Amino acid sequence: MSLFKPMENLGDEPQEKNEQKPQEREHVKCLILGSGPAGYTAAIYAARANMEPVLYQGMEPGGQLTTTTDVENFPGYPEGVSGPQMMEDFKKQAERFGTDIRWGMATAVNFDKMPREVVIDDKKVIEADTVIIATGASAKYLGLEAEKKYAGSGVSACATCDGFFYKGKDVAVVGGGDTACEEALYLAGLARKVYMIVRKPYLRASKIMQHRVMNTPNIEILFEHETKDLYGDGVVEGAILVKKRGTPEEEEVKLKIDGFFLAIGHKPNSEIFQEYLETDEVGYIKTVPGTTRTNVEGVFACGDVQDKVYRQAITAAGTGAMAAIEAERYWAEKYAQTHPA
Ligand code: NDP
Repeated sequence: MSLFKPMENLGDEPQEKNEQKPQEREHVKCLILGSGPAGYTAAIYAARANMEPVLYQGMEPGGQLTTTTDVENFPGYPEGVSGPQMMEDFKKQAERFGTDIRWGMATAVNFDKMPREVVIDDKKVIEADTVIIATGASAKYLGLEAEKKYAGSGVSACATCDGFFYKGKDVAVVGGGDTACEEALYLAGLARKVYMIVRKPYLRASKIMQHRVMNTPNIEILFEHETKDLYGDGVVEGAILVKKRGTPEEEEVKLKIDGFFLAIGHKPNSEIFQEYLETDEVGYIKTVPGTTRTNVEGVFACGDVQDKVYRQAITAAGTGAMAAIEAERYWAEKYAQTHPA
């Protein structure tokens, strides 16, 4: 299901009788959309640069990290930290410098307008001199009840985040693309055995990734297998797979595993921007290499909504800092003379 609604009813055109036009308007120097590591880091930098940022938290306050357990790879936390706690720390730090953090999500935009316009919750229009998009991406899940039941107790969509907890254990990775291969290879360095559950009789991944996976002794690929369910007493103890579904050889197979990793793709939360911003075929917002600038002046993108390669909290935070610095420089060049702070 889409996180955002498509753009509608913006601009000065007369509205149909019964349509409600967003009424309330507010002007801000810097609007940040999203509250993961990218959004909050952008807020910390923008607030300290006197950009008076307003941040809308979006649908999942704190972002994807609020769904993980311990974060052990973010520098500065030598003992590790829980995902939700870390995001609370990010939030407090952004608040400390005066970021105006609000509930609500962007439901439409008009980037033809100057200042840029963003509609919040279908009712309020924010006119923003600069917009920083940090709306993230969402991992795709299969849609099984069991994925919710065992979330954080054996089910994960991030091997780099959670793989360490499966040292010496048996795990499965679902998917046959580059991400699945990368996750399987990463896990193979930690786990005793890694199964790849692939629904087709072949991998979709690039040849080089296929080659690496095939040549890793503790990875076993289960082609033409689909996941029907997971079982276990409080934590994942195994998966029930269907082999060769829809053929005369169809059979159910039990696979004993301790961890079940989804790697069937991510969906960047970029729908409402796609009319204005260049994206790749999946929807990741394109930025000018080495910057967070989009094709629309004054609009910057950071974090997972523009990153399909690294997708780490630390890299998201890094691009968040870049976005704020670039937004501040843009603002200083464009607006400092006309409406100084
Ligand atoms: P992909 O869409 O390429 O692959 C998704 C995989 O998951 C496919 O094997 C697909 O199966 C499978 N899948 C999807 N839905 C289901 C389902 N419901 N049940 C079972 N299996 C399912 O996504 P990736 O995240 O792997 O890659 C996205 C893009 O990012 C690609 O362009 C990739 O090349 C790129 N990428 C590049 C990397 C690199 O260069 N290092 C690293 C990671 C990603 P099927 O094939 O049957 O459709």
